[in-house]
Amino acid sequence: MNKSNFIIELKNITKSFGNKVVLDNVSLNVKKGEFVTILGPSGCGKTTLLRSIAGFVTPDEGQIHLNGELINDVPPYERQLNTVFQRYALFPHLNVYENIAFGLKLQNLPKDEIEKRVRKVLKLVSMSDYEWRDVESLSGGQQQRVAIARAIVNRPQVLLLDEPLAALDLKMRHDMQMELKEMHKNLGITFIYVTHDQEEALTLSDTIVVMNDGVIQQVGTPIDIYNEPVNPFVADFIGESNILNATMIEDRKVEFMNHEFECVDENMGVNAPVDVVVRPEDIYILPDKDNPAAMLTGKVMTSIFKGVHYEMTVVTDDGYELMIQDYNCFPVGSEVGLIIRPNDIHVMKKVRLHNTFSGTMADSTHVKMLGGVFECKEQSWAEGGEEVEVTVAFKAVDMMDDTEDGTVDADVQVILYMGNHYHLRIRTLETREPVFVDTNDIWDEGDIVGIKILPKDIKIKKLENEA
Ligand code: ATP
Repeated sequence: MNKSNFIIELKNITKSFGNKVVLDNVSLNVKKGEFVTILGPSGCGKTTLLRSIAGFVTPDEGQIHLNGELINDVPPYERQLNTVFQRYALFPHLNVYENIAFGLKLQNLPKDEIEKRVRKVLKLVSMSDYEWRDVESLSGGQQQRVAIARAIVNRPQVLLLDEPLAALDLKMRHDMQMELKEMHKNLGITFIYVTHDQEEALTLSDTIVVMNDGVIQQVGTPIDIYNEPVNPFVADFIGESNILNATMIEDRKVEFMNHEFECVDENMGVNAPVDVVVRPEDIYILPDKDNPAAMLTGKVMTSIFKGVHYEMTVVTDDGYELMIQDYNCFPVGSEVGLIIRPNDIHVMKKVRLHNTFSGTMADSTHVKMLGGVFECKEQSWAEGGEEVEVTVAFKAVDMMDDTEDGTVDADVQVILYMGNHYHLRIRTLETREPVFVDTNDIWDEGDIVGIKILPKDIKIKKLENEA
């Protein structure tokens, strides 16, 4: 008997390919009947997570439970799960009916039982009239329906879907999203869905799991994730957002873009550095910049009609760039006033204020860290071999185009625009340690750079317990 309320429980799952950690201590519980979406950028590990549940990938560490039973060693075909892949993987030489009936025939079910079940699922995926059609004569959307039918005809407890709509055009994708939601309701089984499309995740899911770089960032309902992102990465990934450095002055008072705003947050500290997120639809534009209600003033730099609203970039008089959506068009060049209401300011505690690395002194003027040897200011106590903690300000990390000019190499992983500068997470190529950088330069994800840090910017603290 399964005593837990969860149909799937993942505990501390870790998986590496070579020296790349793809899943880093992932734990997740999925309730029976839930529609759960794993959402994250390309390469964040979501497919690997899904394939671990399906049994196609064996985790290095951690446990996977299905209905309370450990299934780590259960082969994929014996798990009561079925997977729908991005590519339909149908048998081209079989017709629709035969494709769907294939698994049931292998189980030697009676012919009339097979017929009954195939007809039922064909109806569920709105393909009743297509049973004798050659699968190759079907459109992409129809093929994907057959693939879903083939998966659900086995009556799995959990249906795993790996970007099943990615190959379809936008219109078909929207139609299929609605159908999947309906199917989920009618079938009553648990869906675990993988996508990099945040709109799809918001539309379909009861619960969204946001992943980045092998780590779960946040689990919540679509509304929670949209309205209360836990960190700037989630805010940036889910919907458009303006993310800004800010200072929490006191309860319900926060300063950013050189203006003091009222907000609703409390207990975030006094004069504490925080991040603030304001959604583009939550900034109100006043056509008259001299309107006394205006909290900020600025100029419209771009304006694009997006079907229902206009999307504009406004640069404030202090040089902060904001994305704003409004039903009215404010032409490029207009001088406008801006209002941000307390409820629309989302304040998040900063995860870190500077880089912290562990290192070892090479000699009194060099420290080994991040897989390289960096010159530092003279540490008179150092002879070499002492373990140290190194702190480096975000803006003290220089990214060099030519890797020859840096001490170690890194690749650009995440780029957040913070209104007047970029906040980047880069990762050293050799040791895969994250390094955070504030810069005005424009980089792309995947760029390979050299990391340079001036000796004066390397702050060294000898660890107390070191002999
Ligand atoms: P995408 O949406 O691009 O498929 P994803 O979030 O699903 O991305 P995964 O497919 O889980 O990501 O891959 C995560 C990382 O692991 C990638 O860098 C990928 O190249 C690597 N990876 C996945 N499978 C293997 C494998 N069998 N061998 C080596 N590396 C792998």
